[in-house]
Amino acid sequence: MRVAIAGGGLAGLACAKYLTDAGHTPILLESRDVLGGLVAAWKDEEGDWYETGLHVFFGAYPNMLQLFKELGIEDRLQWKQHTLIFNQPEKPGVLSRFDVPDIPAPLNILVSILRNNDMLTWEQKFRFALGLWPAIVRGQGYVEAMDKYSLLEWLQRQGVDERVNSDIFIAASKALTFINPEEVSATVPLTALNRFLQERYGSKIAFLDGSPTERLCQPLVDYITERGGEVHLNKPLKAIHLDAAGKVEGFEIRGLAGRPDEVITADAYVSAMPVDVLKVLLPEPWTSLDFFQRLSRLEGVPVINLHLWFDRKLTDVDHLLFSRSPLLSVYADMSNTCREYSDPDRSMLELVLAPAKDWIDRSDEEILAATMAELARLFPQHFGSEQPARLRKAKVVKTPRSVYTAAAGMQACRPTQTTPIPNFFLAGSYTLQEFLGSMEGAVLSGKLAAQAIAQQAEVGSPVTPSQPVVRL
Ligand SMILES: Cc1cc2nc3c(=O)[nH]c(=O)nc-3n(C[C@H](O)[C@H](O)[C@H](O)COP(=O)(O)OP(=O)(O)OC[C@H]3O[C@@H](n4cnc5c(N)ncnc54)[C@H](O)[C@@H]3O)c2cc1C
Repeated sequence: MRVAIAGGGLAGLACAKYLTDAGHTPILLESRDVLGGLVAAWKDEEGDWYETGLHVFFGAYPNMLQLFKELGIEDRLQWKQHTLIFNQPEKPGVLSRFDVPDIPAPLNILVSILRNNDMLTWEQKFRFALGLWPAIVRGQGYVEAMDKYSLLEWLQRQGVDERVNSDIFIAASKALTFINPEEVSATVPLTALNRFLQERYGSKIAFLDGSPTERLCQPLVDYITERGGEVHLNKPLKAIHLDAAGKVEGFEIRGLAGRPDEVITADAYVSAMPVDVLKVLLPEPWTSLDFFQRLSRLEGVPVINLHLWFDRKLTDVDHLLFSRSPLLSVYADMSNTCREYSDPDRSMLELVLAPAKDWIDRSDEEILAATMAELARLFPQHFGSEQPARLRKAKVVKTPRSVYTAAAGMQACRPTQTTPIPNFFLAGSYTLQEFLGSMEGAVLSGKLAAQAIAQQAEVGSPVTPSQPVVRL
């Protein structure tokens, strides 16, 4: 079967990869001149990479890790020590670590929490464990039902101390979803926590050894094209054409640089575009269907990714750090964590600014000034002294609509990969799958969409949304 896929992020690329595995021919159409979507990266005039986002991989990413294996590029993941590292706002410059011992889960996580006495008292830990108990014993069903509460509401209902929220969950919520605990659905951090509690190496973190565009997207492109698939840049979907029965009969692609528009036809069609774009391109007859109406509540969340190149080393920490600062979420010194960005003498900090709704429209200068003020608290030894570290150059990448806003009540709006339209499918980390709006979620969604298409081709009949999509 010939399958047209609009969108060349990880979801679209994974969908194309798994379609070629099933013997089909994907035609992938990406609107921009770069693949990867939210993992896209570019080189500046000096040859230094800058990225849409600071990305880390977790041990609890089975589909992503399987994909690396299938592409033969597992050695590109640089696994770090099994620990989570937090800054302490009340002790500037001092780090607090949750070192996870190499023993079976969930004992390893429990020991890491019990051994850390910087952030929580014994009573707070005990009440936290008690509050978490239903999520552990009642499993994912309970976790899904908690979507009606924000994380903060859920913590309050469980009688968990406010310190647990301010010490741990604000940082976790900002890192996972770019929003705060009073907004985020309780389901999202509880899902992540449950995975960490179930898998021995679930919370272990890896960095890619270079830019995602070259080191992850390119091997996917090679894999797809070597097996007869096509990958095209600069091919924005302009309109979805329907036949008399309301099925898709073609993807109209806008002609760029003076080229005429063209219509691409196929046996099946996939949107792997962000939900915000899909909503705008929905054909009018579909907008009355409940399945598509529910999309109206899904919306990408703003986030900002900063790159700061300094004239000296600020830290030798080779890991992700949770800043626990009001402005910033996570950050890393990429000159330590990433082989291709490495520099033995000078730091390159990559930092995520979230929540970013009050910052996304501000100038780069304002954003940089506020970030530097926070860095003075994170690295007092380098910025409080007479000879402060000098910022050599900086790059600010703003994404006004990134992953879907994972607010309370949104789980019910996330669509399945199959739709009421028999030859139209969805992929994207916002679609319903057991992971969050993450790289793992994107890859899994692409795989599920490919499976649904392959299943339909085999059976010869459409897979309706009420039928469960094959589980992996
Ligand atoms: C700052 C930041 C940090 C992050 N950190 C992590 C992390 O550490 N770990 C993690 O797992 N996840 C992280 N994520 C989330 C992760 O990047 C995303 O969940 C994932 O990459 C989404 O992939 P996708 O394919 O679903 O969507 P996208 O990446 O949004 O891909 C959609 C694609 O569709 C294209 N498109 C748009 N319009 C059209 C059109 N009209 N026609 C054709 N194509 C179109 C876009 O250009 C894009 O390439 C982070 C995201 C950001 C922004």
